[in-house]
Amino acid sequence: MQLQFLGANRQVTGSRYVLRAADRTIMIDCGMFQEREHLSRNWDPSPVPPGEVDALLLTHAHLDHCGLIPRFVAEGYSGPILATPATIDLATIVLEDSAQIHVEDASYKKRRHEREKRKGPHPEIPLYTPADAQAALKLFQPVEYDTPISLGHGIEARYHDAGHILGSALIELFVSDGPRTSRIVFSGDLGHDDHPLMRDPHPINRADCITMESTYGDRDHHRAPDVMNELAKIVNDTVERKGNVVIPTFAIDRAQELMYLFSELVRDEKIPRLTVFIDSPMAIDATNIYQKHPHLFNEEARALFEQGRHPFQFPGLHFVKSADESKAINAIRGSCVILAGSGMCTGGRIKHHLRNNIIHDESTVLFVGYQARGTLGRRIVQGDPTVRIHGREYNVNAKIRELHGLSAHADRTGLMSWLRHFKEPPDKLFLTHGEEEAAMSLKKHVEEQLGWRVDVPEYEARADI
Ligand SMILES: [Zn+2]
Ligand SMILES: [Zn+2]
Repeated sequence: MQLQFLGANRQVTGSRYVLRAADRTIMIDCGMFQEREHLSRNWDPSPVPPGEVDALLLTHAHLDHCGLIPRFVAEGYSGPILATPATIDLATIVLEDSAQIHVEDASYKKRRHEREKRKGPHPEIPLYTPADAQAALKLFQPVEYDTPISLGHGIEARYHDAGHILGSALIELFVSDGPRTSRIVFSGDLGHDDHPLMRDPHPINRADCITMESTYGDRDHHRAPDVMNELAKIVNDTVERKGNVVIPTFAIDRAQELMYLFSELVRDEKIPRLTVFIDSPMAIDATNIYQKHPHLFNEEARALFEQGRHPFQFPGLHFVKSADESKAINAIRGSCVILAGSGMCTGGRIKHHLRNNIIHDESTVLFVGYQARGTLGRRIVQGDPTVRIHGREYNVNAKIRELHGLSAHADRTGLMSWLRHFKEPPDKLFLTHGEEEAAMSLKKHVEEQLGWRVDVPEYEARADI
């Protein structure tokens, strides 16, 4: 049995693993690379011929886990893509949006290259098109949590709630070879225990081999009760300076979690009445999908709905769909809160809100999620005095703030407590989906605390398990 690592190796994006067992080839996730230094991997031919893969198991709908699926299908993959119903709903909007962005990016590059008579590093053709995304979506098949799914040749999969975003799963694979059954576990992205909407990650107590994420392997978040007060303070300070609060927001999970926090702050009158713009068609669509699957929320969140404290509705909340409406926000005087994508400022409407606010010292840019190396968000958050947006340099005068407690990812303590559910050490724990320092720090911690054998694989590494 062999496991191969084809992404998220000593970096956080491009999750993709291949398990070869019992004459079957199973791919787990097929994510897009988003760090600048690895973008060219998105364009490389698939490292595994698509015709060799028997099944593709998808953990959740984030682009760094599902973003290369349309490309993989366009290259010839025609097998099933197994995901939970909520993941299928979310992946539909994520992949349609991604395809649209690739088409727009390609035509923008083409125009710019023609104008400037030069060539850029990436081709002027889109990575994939909306038609490719549609073709890929046809291969999706729904699977339920905690239900055995046969993949043939004695291989069985089971999805469990990973507590990360709506529909997210950690996957257990059972491979029978004669009398022996091996259990291989893929954590996907693990949520943290105090998420206001999601359930806690499902505990697993036995595995021969575990592949686990390590995004926050080297640190702990603030505790959740502080988050509400911190957010209120940031908003109130900015309102006092008559500035705006601009929040680069992931459309899925973070936007809904922020809506929940703002709804509570507004209802408890901890912040003044002000307009909160959700300037992201995808966040709006995602919110509708969240509302369609309330049975997936934790007990406390379900109770809020029942008490009429709807987490996604509150006075002042304003959904912005069209680009014209989005531009009109610039003309508004007085303070407002703007949530827009993308979460790491790599594209989307956030860029024009940053352009309009980052030079003003009365405004605040508030980061509520992980900023990968090489992204505009990372440059702002690490304190670069000037940043380049849409081809022009801007001084960073706005206040730059971070709110860590909102992460959809488990922190080090959360990862360790999920590992402590395993009753016996696995043969090997592979740490992926974390920058090198985070993964190596967690490796050392697990070795010291649990005495397990831990490996941090390199890109394209193979391991016999
Ligand atoms: Zn994720
Ligand atoms: Zn991820």
